[in-house]
Amino acid sequence: MNQSDIDALRDLPVPPQLHVIDGKTVAASDGALMDVISPVDGQVLTRMAKGTAADMQTAIAAARSAFEDGRWAGQPPAARKKVLHRWADLIEARALELAVLGVRDNGTEISMALKAEPGSAAATIRYYAEALDKVNGEIAPTPADVLAMIHREPVGVVGAIIPWNFPLMIGAWKLGPALAMGNSVVLKPAETASLSLMRMVELAHEAGLPPGVLNAVTGEGAVVGEALGLSMDVDVLVFTGSGRTGRRLLEYAARSNLKRVYLELGGKSPNIIFADAPDLGAAAKVAAAGIFRNAGQVCVAGSRLLVEASIHDAFVAEVVKAAQAMRVGDPLDLATAIGAVNSEGQLEQNLGFVEQARAEGGTLVSGGARVMQETGGYFMEPAILTDVTPDATLAQKEVFGPVLGVTRFETEAEAVQIANGTAYGLAGAVWTSNLSRAHRMVRAVRTGVMHVNTYGGADGTVPLGGVGQSGNGHDKSLHAIDKYINLKTAWIKL
Ligand code: NAD
Repeated sequence: MNQSDIDALRDLPVPPQLHVIDGKTVAASDGALMDVISPVDGQVLTRMAKGTAADMQTAIAAARSAFEDGRWAGQPPAARKKVLHRWADLIEARALELAVLGVRDNGTEISMALKAEPGSAAATIRYYAEALDKVNGEIAPTPADVLAMIHREPVGVVGAIIPWNFPLMIGAWKLGPALAMGNSVVLKPAETASLSLMRMVELAHEAGLPPGVLNAVTGEGAVVGEALGLSMDVDVLVFTGSGRTGRRLLEYAARSNLKRVYLELGGKSPNIIFADAPDLGAAAKVAAAGIFRNAGQVCVAGSRLLVEASIHDAFVAEVVKAAQAMRVGDPLDLATAIGAVNSEGQLEQNLGFVEQARAEGGTLVSGGARVMQETGGYFMEPAILTDVTPDATLAQKEVFGPVLGVTRFETEAEAVQIANGTAYGLAGAVWTSNLSRAHRMVRAVRTGVMHVNTYGGADGTVPLGGVGQSGNGHDKSLHAIDKYINLKTAWIKL
């Protein structure tokens, strides 16, 4: 992969994007299109179908008939596995094209997108392709005159609503296990990151996925997302996004057919640095990358830095140095460490958090301003604020942007108390050379994932999910499969 390969793709015209329903590309029922604005330059990149509730009903109906006639669920597992592997092959073959299109759409720096998007999506699809013929039923221990079997069945129609920060990676976390288990899916990509995911859906059909098994409707969350959530014919809804939308989805389920709803929501993840960390220099660099890559638009971002008081000033100086060495720039330049913020609204929100943190007593020690405004794109210097008290807005609310709040602590007990002092519980890290303390902290900090002497990087073999208001389900690993199956008991009198 080199810069000239990327540059050859950066200005290619992007044709208007339509829905994919029943294996065909179709326009919105009223023909409406919406602008797709690139955060790289603030210009219209292309247009895409602005779906209606009727479009969503059509897609759900297509998914339902595909499921009921068994064109996918009824295929032998080996045949489904072959299609999924072929799909992963196509994603890998088009990896650069998908990554560049995705970056033009959502602004992630290309170095990160190349690692986290198509490659990871293909790996996830392969993982579940390989898993699908290893999901067995069970026979329960019963009296001799009974045979009790536990079947694992697909749920039927899955609705999947995806956010904009890593559309291919997160899309695959849902699509991989849902399709592997034989379900049909209706996908709703995010308004500001639909293009590469829609391309991935098209590739599934090229790979031989039967029409109607995977349908995708673009448009506004409040319109097509709501129609998906309120449908009487969707069995399971899986979602990654904000808590605000997550709450709505639970309401939609309650108001419709009580569909199962799995939520992967936000976080305010603590990165806890003890004075006895094995390598404070390395910890500072990883801490900066752990909040600032993808302009902080990472659900597990280490957005709260808790530092033991005795090393606070020296450590913060190292983090500032590391942050200032991360180049904010053209997202399609391989040397860029921090790309664009996804939208103008998100940028304004980020800047607002910086202002509010200062008003609440925080000290801005680095960055925090909009930059490169002349490009028309949405760029921001990574911001570091110290003296952030545990109850400050910046310590409590998710920014989902390149804004780091630093809080000092004196003791291990205080670190735990601060770490657990938010409504969230997605991820966290502890840096220490003390083995016992590392294990104590892993147990004591309430999160779905704890890192020790690193931040991020957990691969597809382990679950990702939150506790508290960070969500209620898991993506990745074999555990994710549970969301996409029903258990059925067969109690047979012999
Ligand atoms: P969002 O909730 O605004 O949007 C997510 C998706 O929901 C989009 O596809 C959107 O169109 C759709 N949507 C919006 N309103 C809807 C409605 N009324 N009904 C149905 N669907 C609707 O979130 P976002 O801004 O796109 O994503 C950022 C959030 O996602 C952050 O809070 C972040 O922490 C979280 N996130 C979590 C994880 C995780 O794994 N836990 C991963 C990535 C992002």
